[in-house]
Amino acid sequence: MTGMTSSARPLLNRRLAEFGTTIFAEMSALALSTGAINLGQGFPDTDGPEEVREAAVRALRDGRGNQYPPGPGIPELRTAVAAHQQRRYSLSFDPDTEVLVTAGATEAIAAALLALLEPGDEVIAFEPYYDSYAACIAMAGGRRVPVTLRADEGAGRFRLDLDELRDAVTDRTRLLLINTPHNPTGTVLTRAELAAIAELAVERDLLVVTDEVYEHLVFDDAEHVPLATFPGMRERTVTIGSAGKTYSFTGWKVGWVTASPELVTAVRSAKQYLTYVSAGPFQYAVAEALALPESYFTAFRDDMLAKRDLLSAGLEEAGFRVFRPSGTYFVTTDIRPLGETDGFTFCRALPERAGVVAIPNAVFYDHREEGAPFVRFAFCKRTEVLQEAAKRLGAAFQTRSGRPRPVGQGGPVRSTRSRRTA
Ligand SMILES: *Cc1c(COP(=O)(O)O)cnc(C)c1O
Repeated sequence: MTGMTSSARPLLNRRLAEFGTTIFAEMSALALSTGAINLGQGFPDTDGPEEVREAAVRALRDGRGNQYPPGPGIPELRTAVAAHQQRRYSLSFDPDTEVLVTAGATEAIAAALLALLEPGDEVIAFEPYYDSYAACIAMAGGRRVPVTLRADEGAGRFRLDLDELRDAVTDRTRLLLINTPHNPTGTVLTRAELAAIAELAVERDLLVVTDEVYEHLVFDDAEHVPLATFPGMRERTVTIGSAGKTYSFTGWKVGWVTASPELVTAVRSAKQYLTYVSAGPFQYAVAEALALPESYFTAFRDDMLAKRDLLSAGLEEAGFRVFRPSGTYFVTTDIRPLGETDGFTFCRALPERAGVVAIPNAVFYDHREEGAPFVRFAFCKRTEVLQEAAKRLGAAFQTRSGRPRPVGQGGPVRSTRSRRTA
């Protein structure tokens, strides 16, 4: 072998071979080339609070965080994270030994798995899962064991089968990787479900990594309860939070871990060789953001709830079956009422057909057939963007399903589409 190109051996190693490029790249490129509204990837199209942005500018100008911040994160942010967990959940963490700042939740997930898994260890995660889970388990040499959240049409939500979860635990299971509120289904695990998960973890002596980045985006009667609050869980749980989703600054990549000193030390051992540190000035800004009054969180949630309802109603009107989410940025739909069965085919055609981009949930499954008819739309976008998307979807599908197109919607949508394809 003389160099990179001479060998028959693939460049991407076996651990990562199945994770070529993400669906988001493909779909975002489609959005660009067709001019479609991108409801694929979950990032807001407006920035978060002005005062938080100003806090970042001030930190930059004042020379705070422009050089390597401390490895565990700046003390102000660690203290603010601990205060947040105390205030909201009555969980006490020592900012010096039990809080670790990371480069977003993404690094926290990677560092936790790299630190806590031996090759061959089994990790149970709910499918559909957030796309980095499978890749990080693979990088850590672990084996993922999916437990499928199944559509419960009566309840209008995706549901965890606790018996299936129990049956998935073996002598090789090291860790449960939990996500609530859950992306992409919008399911928020109930107190009873969480209690059962906690009992199982204690009984089988499992570690738990819990991704709670949508903790502030919980709707209706749903309630976010951190797994770490259940008996026996504090000492075995790595809780992951992030500023990206809560403050609409997904580009800042400020996340954190709260856990026992032993677990934080382990996660930090991996984290220090991934990024060492990150986002210096933003850490100061997020410390201020975490101390915003309750009214910020309420207004943010109410705004996102209105967006959920706007897009959900539009999708229902267009003929989709909608699982109205109890949390997160996303609404999952079933396309079968439209006469469609394959989300991949559907999403590849959707930009041309309706001028909207969505994501086929099947990419988040190991058992792809389980996810085939489900398609995810992000609603963390401006109201007028969601209105236009709803209008386009209505125009594209209502005529096909033989139902009358609402009066006055045909013209503008057609003209938008012809501009777009011109
Ligand atoms: C967006 C998201 C993340 C990543 O958070 P960052 O802080 O941007 O790294 C992790 N988990 C879930 C479920 C997400 O939706």
